[in-house]
Amino acid sequence: MPAAEDVPVIAIDGPVGSGKGTVAHRVAAELGFLLLDSGALYRVLALAARARGASFEDAGTLAHLADRLDVAFAAGDATDPVRTLLAGVDVTREIRTEQCGNDASHVSACPEVRDALLVRQRGFRRPPGLVADGRDMGSVVFPDAPVKVFLTAAPGVRVERRHKQLMAKGIDVSVARLFRELAERDRRDRERAVAPLKPAEDAVVVDTTGLDVDFVVARVLEIARLRMAVVSRDE
Ligand code: C5P
Repeated sequence: MPAAEDVPVIAIDGPVGSGKGTVAHRVAAELGFLLLDSGALYRVLALAARARGASFEDAGTLAHLADRLDVAFAAGDATDPVRTLLAGVDVTREIRTEQCGNDASHVSACPEVRDALLVRQRGFRRPPGLVADGRDMGSVVFPDAPVKVFLTAAPGVRVERRHKQLMAKGIDVSVARLFRELAERDRRDRERAVAPLKPAEDAVVVDTTGLDVDFVVARVLEIARLRMAVVSRDE
C-alpha cells in the first residue's frame, strides 16, 4: 500500500455553478479514482446542526458535531449518483436544497469546523487516486496535490446551471432569488478568514463560460495526465 502522500490527488475547486461537481464525477469515473465531494460534508453538518437546533455561531457545538459526524456515502442512481447518509438515514435530497447550501456556507466559515473536518477529508486519499471537489482542496486540504484546477464561469451562467440542476431534481426556485442567494454565498465563501474561496497559487484556472461539460472534462483530464506524468518523472 503506497503512503498517502504518494497517492495522486486531482483538486477541483471553484464557486457554485462553475461545473466542478459534474466535472469531478466524470473525471473520477474516467480514471477509476475515488471521489470526495467536500461540500457534501459541510452540507450534512449544517443539516445535523439544524436538527439539533444548534446556533451557527456556536463554534464549540459545531466542532463537536463535526468531530462525531456519522456520515457515509454509497452508490446511487442516474439522478443522484452518490447517496449520502447521516446516521444511516438517506439525506441525499435534503442536502441539495439552497437552504442547506446557505447553511453550509455559514457553518463552514467556522475555523473549528474546518479543523475538525480536515483529517476526515484527507482520509479519502486512497489508491489508485482521488478527485477532490470543493473550495479549498488545492489550497488547504491537499496542498501537495499534483493536479489543481480552479473552475470559474460568468455569474449569469453559474446561476443558470444551478437553476437547471435544481429543476432536474424537482426543486423549484426563482432565478432572481437564486441569483441573490448565490452572490451572497460566494461573497461569504470568498471573504471568510479561513480557507477562503480562491485559486491555489499553482492551480490552472479554467473559465467554463460557453464551454460544454465534455470539453471541460477533456481539458481537466489533459491537465491531469500532463501534471501526473511530470510528477512521476521527477520522482
Ligand atoms: O460545493 P457545495 O455547494 O456543495 O458547498 C456548500 C458550501 O460548503 C459552500 O458554499 C462552502 O461554504 C462550503 N464548502 C467549503 N469548503 C469546501 C466545500 C464546501 O467551505 N471544501
